[in-house]
Amino acid sequence: MPVPANPRIAVLGFSIECNKFAPPATKAHFEARTYLEGDAILEEARRPTPTMLPETPGFIRAMDKAGPWTPIGIVLAMSEPNGPVEHGFFEDVLAAMTAQLKAVMPVDGVYFCAHGAAITTEEDDPEGVLFERIRDIVGPDVPVVATFDLHANVSDRMVDKIDAFIGYRTNPHLDMRERGEEAADVLRELLAGTRTERVRIRLPIVPPTVTLLTAAGPYAEMIELGQRRKGPEIINVSVMGGFAYADTAKNGLSVIVTARGDRREAALLAREIAKYGWDQRARFYPKLTSLEDAVQTALAVAGDPSLKAHAFADVADNPGGGGRGNTMYLLHAFVEAGVKGALFGVIYDPPLAAEAHRHGLHYHFDAHFNRDETTNFSEPWNAPARVAALHDGNCGGRRGIYAGTRLALGPCAALAIGGVTVVVVSHRVQCADPIFFEMMGLDIAKARCVAVKSRGHFRGGFDEFFGPEQIVEVDLPGLTSPMLKRFEWTRLPRPVIPLDDNVSWSPPAV
Ligand SMILES: [Zn+2]
Repeated sequence: MPVPANPRIAVLGFSIECNKFAPPATKAHFEARTYLEGDAILEEARRPTPTMLPETPGFIRAMDKAGPWTPIGIVLAMSEPNGPVEHGFFEDVLAAMTAQLKAVMPVDGVYFCAHGAAITTEEDDPEGVLFERIRDIVGPDVPVVATFDLHANVSDRMVDKIDAFIGYRTNPHLDMRERGEEAADVLRELLAGTRTERVRIRLPIVPPTVTLLTAAGPYAEMIELGQRRKGPEIINVSVMGGFAYADTAKNGLSVIVTARGDRREAALLAREIAKYGWDQRARFYPKLTSLEDAVQTALAVAGDPSLKAHAFADVADNPGGGGRGNTMYLLHAFVEAGVKGALFGVIYDPPLAAEAHRHGLHYHFDAHFNRDETTNFSEPWNAPARVAALHDGNCGGRRGIYAGTRLALGPCAALAIGGVTVVVVSHRVQCADPIFFEMMGLDIAKARCVAVKSRGHFRGGFDEFFGPEQIVEVDLPGLTSPMLKRFEWTRLPRPVIPLDDNVSWSPPAV
């Protein structure tokens, strides 16, 4: 086939990470982040501060740079992590994508922005369903390239129905734009005639989120090994940590290698990386700090200026993993223990933020947290508070995963409760960017203790204030606790590390 001079490329995406234990995600949750159709996708992606994550803008920028092309926006639906997607809405997205893609055929190529850890209230492999549908429409010869979050749970169908699998390599996710750019480079190569082979190997390891950092540790070593051993026949090596709380049969640490037509090369490399990961299996168990020890550390740091300030991560109530961002365990303990000079963010509580706005600045009142929202962990709590700052919640991400994106947190309030100043927001968001404190006029550099509702992405935003040795991951109850034995799993492949003993695995034959 001749190389198209001005290739027509369909741009679409469906991106959400779903925690099966959290309440369902609806269309409204997507609309609050990004739900776009047609040319609006391209317009938004080309804005200086788009609302979407940076893969699609990176893809479009790199395609623009590399030569003429005709981008065709289809549907892009992207949400903050949440519970399972309401199946009816997923079917609407699938129908809209199908109709619009059919209407613009023929296309020369497809770029799909996926997360990879979506589930719906009825379907455990929505990405597989989407890719299968796209393949049915475009036929076997049109290249389809997709990008994935490194928390993707990967099915065979997801790998088989596309031509190149490109996953993030950093956690916190700081290479989203680069992976979008890589997708453009790969798509250009495939348009020129390269054909691929993909191999996936899944290990019986469902790594707790806190063991999936890429600065150091077993997962970082697997990714590094893949990049180091990648020869000229290999297009991409993706090591996907997966997202435990989706609780699907496709969960498990996976290696996906995309090769230039050479299946054996792909299989050998995937096997080498998987084998390395298996040998490191004893390191995929979380080590957290108890609440009692965390409070003692906070008191010590608050009382002794010669000690370095500390960050305390409530990893079990991470909105970035479907947590509600409103459990009170840590806040309650800090206030009760009399911790001074502490910042706490961000608590998702729209009625409380609204009440603070009604009262106005410096008003003293009894703050009732969680008057509406009720999950097992979101218990009501109240304390005397003063309204220390108010904000409309519109801001631009400054550092880490939100850098360069436009954010709307809804009405926000900073409440002074004892020695702790708490930021309350109206849209659920992971506390991954210092801007959430800074826009309230709070000085992170002056705080002794900063508590964040975040599993790990705060590291990419707050690294200018806290080195790894100043971070305490606190063991608390919650929807995103890394202590996986506390959940009732129904679909995870068993036996699996870290839940079961006597888990065995041997590398597949090449
Ligand atoms: Zn992720």
